Amino acid sequence: PVYLDYNATTPVDPRVLETMLPWFTEQFGNAASRTHLYGWTAEEAVATARKQLAKLVHVTPKEVVFTSGATEANNLAIKGVFEKKSHVGKHIITVATEHKAVLDTCHHLEQLGAEITYLVPAADGLITPQQVAEVLRSDTILVSVMYANNEIGVIQPIRDIAEVAHQAGALFHTDATQAVGKLPIDMPLEGIDLLSLSAHKLYGPKGIGALIVRSGVEIASQMDGGGHERGRRSGTLNVPGIVGLGKACEIAQKEMKSETARLAELRNHLESEILSKVPDTFVNGTTPHRLSHLTNICFENVDGENLLLSLRDVAVSTGSACTSASVLPSYVLKILGLTDDQAYASLRMSLGRFTTEEEITFAIHHIVEVVEKMRG
Ligand code: PLP
Repeated sequence: PVYLDYNATTPVDPRVLETMLPWFTEQFGNAASRTHLYGWTAEEAVATARKQLAKLVHVTPKEVVFTSGATEANNLAIKGVFEKKSHVGKHIITVATEHKAVLDTCHHLEQLGAEITYLVPAADGLITPQQVAEVLRSDTILVSVMYANNEIGVIQPIRDIAEVAHQAGALFHTDATQAVGKLPIDMPLEGIDLLSLSAHKLYGPKGIGALIVRSGVEIASQMDGGGHERGRRSGTLNVPGIVGLGKACEIAQKEMKSETARLAELRNHLESEILSKVPDTFVNGTTPHRLSHLTNICFENVDGENLLLSLRDVAVSTGSACTSASVLPSYVLKILGLTDDQAYASLRMSLGRFTTEEEITFAIHHIVEVVEKMRG
């Protein structure tokens, strides 16, 4: 089938794989081994990757903390700040449409005495800096707002929200898993204190990611042990994974601009063809402020489960892969005001580096045909 689910995960770019391979075999050293060449070589490779990642988001290498992915990075950021700052305040602000890795971390902290405000976005998926300002308190320690939504691609006004958070003395964290490598991100300029990312969303391997922690921002480690990553995340470094993440960042930085333009054109074609050829359809989320490689379309009066089952030749999703073990309608779409039926009948189509024009032509044809057939 034609793969249109790049927001769930991406294939490893062959250039990334090639860079990773030696670090499994000939160069197998432990980056923490300080007594021989095997260790030094691995440490050097990690240092290079750290620089490649740091450069992509405009920070210094020592601000990078490698983790197993964005789920761990979100846990480390939110729990790490809470543990460090709960003597100052226990209030955290986040958004109801965040990924579960943020929401469930917040729910966990509620059991430990945290007070969480879950902001509800407007029907277009956006929240405003004013909304944040209205709920900020003197005991707010952290504001956590995702950069771009995984289901609808909505890009939040990060810079303005960070500014409002800082004015009230709170730290600002963003889950930028869907934005890193897709949008230009400048952490110092945008006032981001903590940023989560994951390699497998940008053509790197699964099981590796990072939390970027700006200098001066203190977090309590959630993994204790050998004191790796300057004491912020213990555990032997995943050298091949880290090398892959670094290379993926380097490629993304070089190709982001042209790739964004190419995908926007394909996405716009896919979207406008479906909207014009299939009646009773609409796009979920704002269209001016969203990722250029994604569209989320609701097909009204169509049975969602049947729709997915009938779409055998295109790989798309409803909602996020991370929660699809449960066949519930997308909570993100429901928060935007969709009914259960509308949410079930919404398809997220996300394009990526290996998507071709032919694939998009095929997908349009297939989707239009399937929906027409279902509606009789
Ligand atoms: N945050 C967002 C916005 C995501 O889309 C994902 C994707 O799965 C995650 C977090 C989790 O990342 P990981 O798979 O690296 O744990």
